[in-house]
Amino acid sequence: MNELISVLKKNGYKITPQRIAIYDVLKDTREHPCVDSIYNKLHPMFPTMSLATVYKSLEVFKSLGLIQELNVGEGSFRYDANTIQHPHVICLNCGKVDDAELDDIDLTEQVEVKTDYKIVKQQIYFYGYCPECTSKNTSLNK
Ligand code: ZN
Ligand code: MN
Repeated sequence: MNELISVLKKNGYKITPQRIAIYDVLKDTREHPCVDSIYNKLHPMFPTMSLATVYKSLEVFKSLGLIQELNVGEGSFRYDANTIQHPHVICLNCGKVDDAELDDIDLTEQVEVKTDYKIVKQQIYFYGYCPECTSKNTSLNK
């Protein structure tokens, strides 16, 4: 929270209750919400806030390195306040996005060694069916 305020201030952005609330939604969840679900969650608290405000705030946070945007395919984006790079696992049935924390993967280093690229970021996604979906629909398990 204090980090948010100081980063916004330092970069000349206004600190508004909406901005703080949008960031808090991301900070307090591990569900990687999309713009719509952030908007829907905050709408009761800020009835006059527009979807565009949520979009713009997320753009600002992203450009300041406060959040990361996950491209989960087909123009669909999810947001994560954990800016440390980590793999994600995505359910092909319900669209849930979870963290897939792995021990000791230094893929970046391996890619640099093999390609001579200087790697600056990476996004790794695994796709499958989440435990809830596989237990509800056993055919997904095969
Ligand atoms: Zn699922
Ligand atoms: Mn994550």
